[in-house]
Amino acid sequence: MHLTGLECIHCRRHYQPDEVEYYCPACGSNDGILDVQYDFEAARRELTREKLAADRNLSIWRYLPLLPVADPTLIPHLSVGWTPLYDAPRLASDLGIARCWVKDDGRNPTASFKDRASAIGVVKALEKKASRITCASTGNAASSLAGFSAAANLPATIFVPARAPEAKVAQLLVFGATVFSVQGSYDQAWELCMEASREFGWYNRNCAVNPYLIEGKKTAGLELAEQFLWMNESNVPDWVVVSVGDGCTIGGVWKGLREMHAFGLLPRLPRILGVQAEGSKAFVDAWRGDGILKPGDATTVADSICVGHPRNFAKGMRSVTESNGAFIAVPDEEILAAIPLLARKAGVFAEPAGAASAAGLKAALAQGIVSRKETAVLLATGNGLKDIQSAMRICGRATSIEPDIDAVRRAVTRT
Ligand SMILES: *Cc1c(COP(=O)(O)O)cnc(C)c1O
Ligand SMILES: [Zn+2]
Repeated sequence: MHLTGLECIHCRRHYQPDEVEYYCPACGSNDGILDVQYDFEAARRELTREKLAADRNLSIWRYLPLLPVADPTLIPHLSVGWTPLYDAPRLASDLGIARCWVKDDGRNPTASFKDRASAIGVVKALEKKASRITCASTGNAASSLAGFSAAANLPATIFVPARAPEAKVAQLLVFGATVFSVQGSYDQAWELCMEASREFGWYNRNCAVNPYLIEGKKTAGLELAEQFLWMNESNVPDWVVVSVGDGCTIGGVWKGLREMHAFGLLPRLPRILGVQAEGSKAFVDAWRGDGILKPGDATTVADSICVGHPRNFAKGMRSVTESNGAFIAVPDEEILAAIPLLARKAGVFAEPAGAASAAGLKAALAQGIVSRKETAVLLATGNGLKDIQSAMRICGRATSIEPDIDAVRRAVTRT
């Protein structure tokens, strides 16, 4: 393992991995988020262009030299990451942009981006010989942790808001996690999980406080860079578009891109466009305003980004400011309309928070934040089957006909 320590992003104190569990004790759980650091020279020698080209391991574990895993024998068997990057010319022409690609992270084992983080969380819990792992989640971190816990034979207790979509709750129950459906918001489920983790000593998988989790999320950035490496290098996208709730996903993607850039494997850094829903836009408000987080209530059809109090505010903000990017908010109707758009123009069925990236790019083009001459990658963070109710709200109904060819003829001439 090339991990050299953990640095507090607030006070810059440095810790050895065995000195701290989750966050900087001097700064507390809100501010004292830690950043995992590596011996980059050692990692760089193992992650050369030649070695990557020859590596047949098409999963996040191809980046093991840049991951915080001490004991690779504990890696669960589920295949996570190395999700496809599709060139989507019809989507690009519909959006009115020179070129765009869709990275389909709904193809992960439990059908969302969160699997990248859960895979690491489970390994760290096993390394610590934890008896149980816990998280609070709007839904996907939960179903993902449930799946990886089942694969690793590690008991899990999961807190979800009562309004989590049914399919995600079904995943939790099928995988055998202990599920607490909290009569309250995600933000309340989070507080409850934090307290329970302290009181019962359960390993805490919450991505904003557990510094190792975002290392899993950064693999999307590592992959993107590598996927562009194998194409024509001049293709490096101008923008990477990511939907934002707590800020861990966008922060992770940015860290991965930066590391590949530092390794000389990504010729230039894209700008990051963070997309939020109108009813849940703490990042947008802070970014447009004084830069200070003002937690509030949140409502949006995109349950995965329905977060009133983002728990990884600093890393989320940093990804956009450092990359000279932007935050943008889109109304729920535009998020819903982006579901069939992405499906019909690119063949990718995403849940609302996944399709939000397309809605955000469209809005950013309309507002001139992104130029029509530029290029962009849309991260489709979750599979559409996770929330069919939202999809059905926008796509209408099937035509009902009698089992009779005349009925088909009549229906065909009508349409
Ligand atoms: C969790 C999630 C996000 C946002 O990630 P954050 O780390 O909360 O910002 C976006 N899309 C989907 C599908 C998610 O599950
Ligand atoms: Zn600190």
